[in-house]
Amino acid sequence: MSRAATLPRLIDGKATAARVLAEVSDEVADLRARGVQPGLAVVLVGSDPASQVYVRNKVLRAEETGIRSLEHKLPADTDEATLLALIEHLNASAEVNGILVQLPLPAHINEQRVLQAIDPLKDVDGFHSENVGGLSQGREVLTPCTPSGCLRLLQDTCGELRGKHAVVVGRSNIVGKPMAALLLQADCTVTVVHSRSQDLPALCRQADIVVAAVGKPRLIDANWLKPGAVVIDVGINRIDEDGRSKLVGDVDFDSALSLVSAITPVPGGVGPMTIAYLMKNTVAATRRQCLAARPAQP
Ligand code: NAD
Repeated sequence: MSRAATLPRLIDGKATAARVLAEVSDEVADLRARGVQPGLAVVLVGSDPASQVYVRNKVLRAEETGIRSLEHKLPADTDEATLLALIEHLNASAEVNGILVQLPLPAHINEQRVLQAIDPLKDVDGFHSENVGGLSQGREVLTPCTPSGCLRLLQDTCGELRGKHAVVVGRSNIVGKPMAALLLQADCTVTVVHSRSQDLPALCRQADIVVAAVGKPRLIDANWLKPGAVVIDVGINRIDEDGRSKLVGDVDFDSALSLVSAITPVPGGVGPMTIAYLMKNTVAATRRQCLAARPAQP
């Protein structure tokens, strides 16, 4: 076998996200042809620089795909009642099909109360308990964007996921738990490991698929991986190295490369998929809200 044939595959999140966004643009064009314009409301409280960048990127992607974006920027000292009143208004607005509240919120606002106030049909982040419960029951609901994007990368990379052993490292509500639920729905055998698990490397070495969502730079190296494993690295960690600041994942990319069959880079892997799936969810939400009640066109 040639050396080229044994090299691992780099899972290109940018290219896959571009394909997902092209699918979204087609779906938006189809909706517009039926007189429906999808609308995404993005709510930002305060002026956290990272959140501002995320919101700007979300608005840009929405506009590129033909989704109408409605930005609501509120000062950092906005009280919870004012934010809840805005959400109530957005829930009732026919122009708005998806509502995204950029996290984290300032400490004086109860995040859970705010997320629960969003109409589950407009909850494009998939964080409302109605959607969390629906996902765990295998119902068709809006699911969190990052794990949905990871699932798509895995489907495109591995084809059939049925019967594969997936180990999810991390059990957060935003990534780890919904990732495990999606993989279970895809008929994987799923193990979730976390900060209290015993002998993490041995548990991970059993995996055909590893999804790392921890937030610890280069925690996972070749010693944690089975030869031929497929690795999805969700982690985004900023470190200072060789006198400069850079982004690295939870996986030691250079060490893992010697063993894996495919791996996502950081950056350029999971990151672009998160925004692409936000747009996908906005279109799915629009369809459910606007088309479900309509009779089929003759
Ligand atoms: P979190 O802090 O909420 O959860 C981290 C999880 O890792 C916890 O469940 C914890 O039990 C586990 N953990 C902590 N230390 C561990 C250890 N030593 N060994 C095993 N498990 C350990 O974080 P999160 O919101 O799930 O995010 C995880 C990472 O993913 C972060 O780097 C974050 O920036 C990144 N992230 C990326 C995207 C994206 O779009 N690419 C989206 C969300 C999060």
